[in-house]
Amino acid sequence: MTTTPERSGPVPLGVPAPGAFDAHHPPSAELVSDCVHCGFCLTTCPTYTLWGEEMDSPRGRIYLMKSGLEGEPMTDSMVQHFDACLGCMACVTACPSGVQYDKLIEATRAQVERNHTRTPKDRALRTAIFALFPHKRRLRALRAYQRTGMPALVRRTGLLERFAPKLAMMASLAPPPPDKREPIPARTPAVGRRRAVVGLLTGCVQGEFFPGVNAATVRVLAAEGCDVIVPQAQGCCGALSVHNGRDEEAKRFARRTVDAFEAAGVDAVVVNAAGCGSSMKEYALLLADDPAYAQRVEAFAARVRDVSEILAELGSVAPRHPLEVSVAYHDACHLAHAQGVRAQPRALLREIPGLELREIAESAICCGSAGIWNVLNPEPARELGDRKAANIAATGASLLVTANPGCLMQVAASLQRRGARIGMAHTVEVLDASIRGLPPSALGVP
Ligand code: SF4
Ligand code: SF4
Repeated sequence: MTTTPERSGPVPLGVPAPGAFDAHHPPSAELVSDCVHCGFCLTTCPTYTLWGEEMDSPRGRIYLMKSGLEGEPMTDSMVQHFDACLGCMACVTACPSGVQYDKLIEATRAQVERNHTRTPKDRALRTAIFALFPHKRRLRALRAYQRTGMPALVRRTGLLERFAPKLAMMASLAPPPPDKREPIPARTPAVGRRRAVVGLLTGCVQGEFFPGVNAATVRVLAAEGCDVIVPQAQGCCGALSVHNGRDEEAKRFARRTVDAFEAAGVDAVVVNAAGCGSSMKEYALLLADDPAYAQRVEAFAARVRDVSEILAELGSVAPRHPLEVSVAYHDACHLAHAQGVRAQPRALLREIPGLELREIAESAICCGSAGIWNVLNPEPARELGDRKAANIAATGASLLVTANPGCLMQVAASLQRRGARIGMAHTVEVLDASIRGLPPSALGVP
């Protein structure tokens, strides 16, 4: 989704204002007033679908923002309803009045982080999550620990599930470490005539949990005529931080990402994780108050492309080999709802001879992953995951394809609980297999 910054001039942090919010970028009253309370968004909202509570719907949350702007204090119950929002943006797609709920909830979350005191347990869990996920080296250490076999041993005792269900959820989602990691060169030349020079964001979770996706992305882009640069100075893009109201941390990550890719001098910045791509396209909003970045970041954000977008823009030149497989394509919320990218991955998959594409019922409803939402809310996340897994299983497809590491982990865990036998892959891994002439079994198809 393209961004028009709604923020006016900088306001110092912590300036008190009446009501739930301080004066530093509260949710915009103007955007709040765009909601005409029609309720068209309700059926696509996962929390409203789960609980049927008005205050856990987009309309209800906007009402809470309005009351916060009108003087209501920030109560625990208000925060609970904001926290329960997955940030899936299905309501943005569904809303006929164009309500920019994405901007509203982002501003609200930053206010919650500044102005609400969380319980010590909640604070500790969030601190642990943010001390781990945005840091590649720490994630790598976690993978090394996984290889010792200890996590499986702990899981078998059932103790973690009993005493720390949120940590148990986190442990259950991590896929087994790959047998070998394919190195990602700093520069990979285009195959044949060069058509573009692109930079690749390797990501934290994508890079550590699904390194094969990055390797496949580099091969496919090179096969389609791109020089692929992987800036070594890049780190976390800040998506998890921004989606959880950790504004200052997100800004630090965003500045570093902008610097790294500007220095690389690329035509486009390619992202293969939907959550990362959506927040990088929104950097102009995040850094609007920063005079050193406000101008530059607009040019940067305009160059950000999901991998399926750039491949569709370039048009395919690399020959596709047949891949006899039935595919259920799952729309990652941050690709479909937040970036409006739905047609491109489907068109790319349909180009593969022998591949049959099947649609999943209730495709607009989130799988329950939503960044770290499934770790913070394990029970409803499991319910949403099971619902998604049932809809996927009903397609009878032998391969599930999606474009976000969080969705892959969440859906894999849900399908595993059902005992479903189905392969799982990122869109770009399917393209890679077709270009290289690999069989469906290379994608884990049984
Ligand atoms: S972002 Fe998703 S969970 Fe949040 S209000 Fe909108 S539809 Fe509901
Ligand atoms: S957010 Fe949009 S769809 Fe939902 S109630 Fe408001 S105007 Fe209607």
